[in-house]
Amino acid sequence: AKAAGGNRFALADAEADARAITRHGLTTALPAALDRGEFFIEYQPLVHLGDGSVHGAEALVRWCHPQHGVLGPDRFIPLAEHTGLIVPLGRWVLEESVRQANFWQERHTDGGPLRINVNLSPAQLHHPSLVAETVDVLERSGLEPGALCLEVTESALIGADDDLLKPLRQLAEMGVDIALDDFGTGYSNLANLRRLPVSVLKLDRSFTQGMQHHPADPVDLKIVEGIVSLAHSLDLAVTVEGVETGAQAEQLRQLGCDTAQGWYYARPGAPDRIHALLLADAV
Ligand code: C2E
Ligand code: CA
Ligand code: CA
Ligand code: CA
Repeated sequence: AKAAGGNRFALADAEADARAITRHGLTTALPAALDRGEFFIEYQPLVHLGDGSVHGAEALVRWCHPQHGVLGPDRFIPLAEHTGLIVPLGRWVLEESVRQANFWQERHTDGGPLRINVNLSPAQLHHPSLVAETVDVLERSGLEPGALCLEVTESALIGADDDLLKPLRQLAEMGVDIALDDFGTGYSNLANLRRLPVSVLKLDRSFTQGMQHHPADPVDLKIVEGIVSLAHSLDLAVTVEGVETGAQAEQLRQLGCDTAQGWYYARPGAPDRIHALLLADAV
């Protein structure tokens, strides 16, 4: 038993070592990966819960690593945040997805403005040139500020002081939407919402998961109902993440949520997919 236990620990150590080596390898490879163009963006549609039409798309970054294949953001965003590479990487994501959104916009003028949602990490939020760079990216692409939505996690804004909120306020005044991402996971004070320059709440996937059961937990329903009514009374739109079934979509629509995102509608994919969905909407 002792020997087996020893082996088990040895194995656990080896796995931990392998993970650490990969982490180290990925971290050191990040800057060159950006120079070599190994990152790409997948887009996931956001739809109106009322009629299922496309409201916009969220840009989700991936890394096509020469040895490890395609890596999801959970594998490298924390590393990029740790080393500061998230600032140039995030800048690239913003530039690329805004350019893409303007391309869609020019081809689909009939359906109203298509929104592009871009995730901002805390380091970008703290960066002194966030506002100037965003203005620059919008001007160079030709996209109107009202078509851009920047997603900031609830946890990044907990306890935020005025210095941190000022750039977001400036962006909001220009017409850029600010969304509070992963809402409901950060234990933020609901009254605090009034202070934040946000116009969209993105309800975390955990709420949507709670609607999988039939019948859904009545307490879960009450909580979502309460959040939606509070959000609407503050003039905030509510988006729900992680909608995987038609039953969830229907439940969330009845609870008054405005827009939704999830595998039920489409997985994140190549930009052509959004183009095709917009063409289908126009019929
Ligand atoms: P997020 O912003 O909460 O993005 C939603 C995540 O949920 C995405 O994971 C998406 O693929 C996944 N998802 C969408 N629909 C469903 C569904 O129906 N069911 C389930 N189970 N999952 C669904 P992804 O693409 O792996 O991204 C993970 C996180 O990485 C994002 O979470 C975001 O925090 C971060 N991220 C992605 N792109 C960027 C970026 O360009 N910059 C920064 N700073 N963070 C990014
Ligand atoms: Ca997001
Ligand atoms: Ca989210
Ligand atoms: Ca999330």
